[in-house]
Amino acid sequence: MVITDDCISCNACIDECPNNAIYYPGTEYELDGKSNPALSDDHPYVVQELCDNCKNCMDVCPTDCIIE
Ligand code: SF4
Ligand code: SF4
Repeated sequence: MVITDDCISCNACIDECPNNAIYYPGTEYELDGKSNPALSDDHPYVVQELCDNCKNCMDVCPTDCIIE
């Protein structure tokens, strides 16, 4: 899943992700025990390696800005 620039940073998707694959903008993400730089400073972002395409996030997004 990818979050586009149409995101309004409501953060609704973050709570819906069962895999904690969506991170707040500007925050580091953890993968295999290592910290990595934020993939976006502007809006929440998805770590692809943690996403299982359950689509929960797409269901709650008010702007339909999460795409496959
Ligand atoms: S599709 Fe599911 S696992 Fe992937 S980011 Fe969205 S809620 Fe999380
Ligand atoms: S639910 Fe949609 S608009 Fe809200 S933060 Fe997530 S991607 Fe952005």
